[in-house]
Amino acid sequence: WCSSDSVVSSTESAGEPVEPRGPYRVLLLGASGVGKTAFAGIFAGAADSMDSDDSELCGDETREKMIEVDGEPASVTLLDTWDSETGVEWAQECYMPTGDAYLLLYSVTDRASFLRASELRITLRRLRPAQHTPIILVGNKCDLVRRREVSVSEGRTCAAVFDCKFIETSAAMQHNVWDAFHGIVRQLRLRRDSKEA
Ligand code: GDP
Repeated sequence: WCSSDSVVSSTESAGEPVEPRGPYRVLLLGASGVGKTAFAGIFAGAADSMDSDDSELCGDETREKMIEVDGEPASVTLLDTWDSETGVEWAQECYMPTGDAYLLLYSVTDRASFLRASELRITLRRLRPAQHTPIILVGNKCDLVRRREVSVSEGRTCAAVFDCKFIETSAAMQHNVWDAFHGIVRQLRLRRDSKEA
């Protein structure tokens, strides 16, 4: 798949960057076990869908769906095909630039996954040097209070350093997960509108 057209970001055509009106390609990135599959499952579920029939499975781990954000519909393709453990260099270089926006997950119960998120952010910055690429740093599993290894303020500080938004979520409790999806659509729209202005 590395050599196919899908490698080309939908934000690029004939050399001129064009802001997509959708479907927006949102990539889930993060270490193994942080909750990417759980996020994809919530996205795929009926909750918050304008019409569950609109949800379409496009591949093993890819789902396209129409969601409503601030009264305006948005078509989002969520990709959960990232496996950071087997994500060898070439796969990173090919897959990572294909997103319009990124949810960068770590688990608040796993400091190594927090460090991995920082590494991925640095790789993203190299592969997507354009400013204002919509990225949200997501600290998942905030329900596991006693097993917490990464504090809220560490997450917030890291996001500030890396110039991206931050949110803590619990996929298990379905807490803030839709806020993360909505937040990324809002950022995509802001970027689109600022380019159109
Ligand atoms: P992935 O490898 O990033 O896709 O991670 P998964 O979505 O497969 O999640 C790994 C494990 O963590 C599974 O057992 C999930 O049920 C669990 N999990 C995911 N999100 C949460 C969460 O917010 N809270 C808790 N307590 N467990 C979670």
